[in-house]
Amino acid sequence: MTPIKENLNTLNSSIPNHVTLVAVSKTKPVTAIQEAYNAGHRVFGENKIQEMTTKWETLPKDISWHMIGHVQTNKVKYMAPYVDLIHAVDSLKLLKEIHKQGQKHDRTISCLLQLKIAQEDSKHGLTENQINDILSSPEIRELSHVRIVGLMGMASFTADQDQIKSEFGRLKTFYDQLVPDFPQLQTLSMGMSGDYALAIAQGSTMVRIGSAIFGARNYNH
Ligand SMILES: *Cc1c(COP(=O)(O)O)cnc(C)c1O
Repeated sequence: MTPIKENLNTLNSSIPNHVTLVAVSKTKPVTAIQEAYNAGHRVFGENKIQEMTTKWETLPKDISWHMIGHVQTNKVKYMAPYVDLIHAVDSLKLLKEIHKQGQKHDRTISCLLQLKIAQEDSKHGLTENQINDILSSPEIRELSHVRIVGLMGMASFTADQDQIKSEFGRLKTFYDQLVPDFPQLQTLSMGMSGDYALAIAQGSTMVRIGSAIFGARNYNH
């Protein structure tokens, strides 16, 4: 068995069925993705639109592509024909552009709103109030080619397990508060290679895992 297949098997046997595994293939070559594909995996996440689009062009068309990185409004057009889920939406302006591009391609594009749960200033995301405002704004109802299906969050980069747990807990609590009013919210994307078990214990329904599948990334190439 190849290491990628082995890693996927290990993860799939430890992740409950109600949790979707997004294999984060950023910086990895198409051969690595093909290997995971051959092992039966179909859901992949990338954080750069151009890189994802090149890979989409090359690889089998039944792959579900997730954009997990920060999205620049002017690049939405490149992924609008095929992207399945955009994880890190952080403004109404971006939602309007996704709607516009979705309309052009006759597609309704699923999105998650990113709540900022980490301490670091470098992490993107919205406040709880901003998310409430977006979900209840009259404008959102005009955006017929956008479907907000859940929330996403990234915990602080820290070894402090209690802090990570409380950040995930905060996201889950907020999500649970929203669901009765906004039943279209069905996805809670939280958890990466280092913290996915903690995230699942806190209620995650979608984990984004890269290095535990494909090995460490080397950004020097
Ligand atoms: C890179 C990345 C991941 C995966 O990180 P690993 O630690 O390799 O599992 C998950 N989510 C986002 C938003 C990322 O950018």
